[in-house]
Amino acid sequence: MHYDENNIFARILRGEIPCQKVYEDDHVLAFNDIAPKAPVHILVIPKGAYISIDDFGAHAPAEEIKAFYAAVAKIAADHDLQGKGFRTIANTGLNGGQEVPHFHVHILGGKALGPMLAS
Ligand code: AMP
Repeated sequence: MHYDENNIFARILRGEIPCQKVYEDDHVLAFNDIAPKAPVHILVIPKGAYISIDDFGAHAPAEEIKAFYAAVAKIAADHDLQGKGFRTIANTGLNGGQEVPHFHVHILGGKALGPMLAS
């Protein structure tokens, strides 16, 4: 599948669209979701052009994968999520309900989130 250079997260990475940044390093950017589903709802994205979690896992260098999950851990710690817990979601493709075709993990927390899937 072809990476769409004009997806909204690519445009955020190029600085064409603003975001509420919560974390950034050489490989990773994280920002608040524009339509939060929980008191904490942060999107973590790699700076590289990966469509989905399977694209990222198959093609990203180890350094980028390590940086990505280290950033998830740091963001969870910085937002005091580790004690009571939190949820990460990586919607993937059509059946996964992925809206933005640039790999991202949602970090959700700050309240009890209930069942994993709506029944
Ligand atoms: P997904 O369905 O996993 O692709 O989720 C995409 C997420 O991106 C949704 O939760 C949207 O609310 C969020 N989103 C879309 N545009 C923006 C934006 N400009 N800034 C922050 N979050 C956004």
